[in-house]
Amino acid sequence: MPGGRPRNLAWFNQSCLLPRLLIPVESAMGETRVAASPDTVKKFLSLGSKVAIERGAGLAAGFVDGDFNTIGAELVAPGDSQAWSEADVVLCVQSPSASALARMRSGALVVGLLAPYANSSLAASLKTAKLSAMALELLPRISRAQSADALSSQANIAGYKAVLLAAAALDRYFPMLMTAAGTVQPARVVVLGAGVAGLQAVATAKRLGAVVYVSDVRSAVKEQVESLGARFIEPPEIDQRPDESGGYAKQASEAFLTAQREQLSNQLAQADVVICTAQVPGRKAPRLISDLMLDRMRPGAVVVDLAVEQGGNCANTRPGETVDRNGVKLIGASDLPCSVPNHASALYSRNLVALLEPVLKDGQLSLNIEDELIAGCLISHNGVIRHDDVLNTGGSN
Ligand code: NAD
Repeated sequence: MPGGRPRNLAWFNQSCLLPRLLIPVESAMGETRVAASPDTVKKFLSLGSKVAIERGAGLAAGFVDGDFNTIGAELVAPGDSQAWSEADVVLCVQSPSASALARMRSGALVVGLLAPYANSSLAASLKTAKLSAMALELLPRISRAQSADALSSQANIAGYKAVLLAAAALDRYFPMLMTAAGTVQPARVVVLGAGVAGLQAVATAKRLGAVVYVSDVRSAVKEQVESLGARFIEPPEIDQRPDESGGYAKQASEAFLTAQREQLSNQLAQADVVICTAQVPGRKAPRLISDLMLDRMRPGAVVVDLAVEQGGNCANTRPGETVDRNGVKLIGASDLPCSVPNHASALYSRNLVALLEPVLKDGQLSLNIEDELIAGCLISHNGVIRHDDVLNTGGSN
C-alpha cells in the first residue's frame, strides 16, 4: 500500500491523508475538454493533494503533458489500473465508462458532468463499485455556488459559438455597413430563451453589429435583455403563462406554446438568424419553431438549435448535423463547448477547484454532506443512490 495510507476510508464528516486526484483522458466520443489545466493542478497541489494525470489527457485542449509534469503532477498511462484503484477522487468532464468506474476502489469519489438523468448505466456502476459521485448538473443555482457553476461556464461558450456559427453560415453581413457601393442593413437576429447561453448569444450578436430580438417567458429577463441593447418580445398574454421556480421556467402549456409560436412566426419571417436556447430543466425542450414557421423564413436564413439534444426548439434539427431546408440552414448545435476546448477546459477546471477547495484543505479530504451545495449534487454516497430520478434512469436499488 503506497505510503502506508489506509484504504476504504469513510468519506463523510471524516478526513483522510494526502488525497489522490486522477485526471483521465476523456473517453466520450467527440469530447475534447479535460478536467484540469496546469493552473488548477498547481492549485490542487498547493492544497496538499497528489495529482496524477493520464498521458495526453490535455492535448486536445492545448495542454501538453510537460506542462503538468513540470509543476509536480505524476503522468500515468491511460487506463493504468493502479492509478484508478488508488485514486480518491477522479475529476472528469463526462462520466468515465462503466469499465473504468469498476476499476475504482469502493468509497472513492467521481466528480464531473455525469449526465445523471441520461446515463442509463451510471446508477448501476456507482452501486456496484460502491462509489460516491457528484454530478455538476445538479449543483444548486445559489450565489455561493456561482464560481463552481459548470453549466453556466459551458453554456456561455455555447451561446458565443452559436452566433459565430450562424455568422459564418449566413449569406449576409451581421453589421450595418456604409460602403461606396451602398449601405448594407444589419442582420436581424432572434434569440429564443435568455438564460446563460441566450444572454451570451445576445451579447455576441450585438458585438457583431446585429439587431437582436429576444423571446423568453420569465419576466426578470426583460431588463437583462434590454441592458444588452436588444429588444424583448413580450410573452403572449394568455392565462397559462408558465410559472418559474428557482430562476428556471417551468414547462409551458400547449395552449401557451401555440400562442407563442403564432407570435414568433412574424418575427421569424423577417429574421436572418435564429439562435434557439429555450429549455426547461428535466423536460423536453419547448418546440417553438414549426414547419409552417420555417416555410415563412427566407432562403439563406440560419437557425442554430442549442436545444437539439433535448428534442430541439426547432422542427427538423438533428444533433451535430446541418440540414438545408429549402435554403434555410438548420444547424443542430450539440457539444459547442468542445469546439472551444482550451477555454472550456480552463473554466470548467476552475469550477472544479471552486467546488473542491473547501473539501481539500491542508492535505485532508473532508466532505460535509450537510452543506446544501454538496448535498445538492451528491448523487451517490458509497454506492447508495441519493436521487430517485437517477435511479430511474436504469440502475436498480
Ligand atoms: P436554461 O438553459 O434551463 O433555460 C434557458 C432559458 O430558456 C431560460 O431563460 C428559460 O426561461 C427559457 N425558456 C423556457 N421556456 C421558454 C419558452 N417557451 N420560450 C422562451 N424561452 C423559454 O437556463 P439557464 O441558462 O441554465 O439559466 C436559468 C436561470 O438561472 C437564469 O435566470 C440564470 O440567470 C439563472 N442562473 C443563476 C445562477 C446562480 O445564481 N448561481 C447561475 C446560473 C444561472
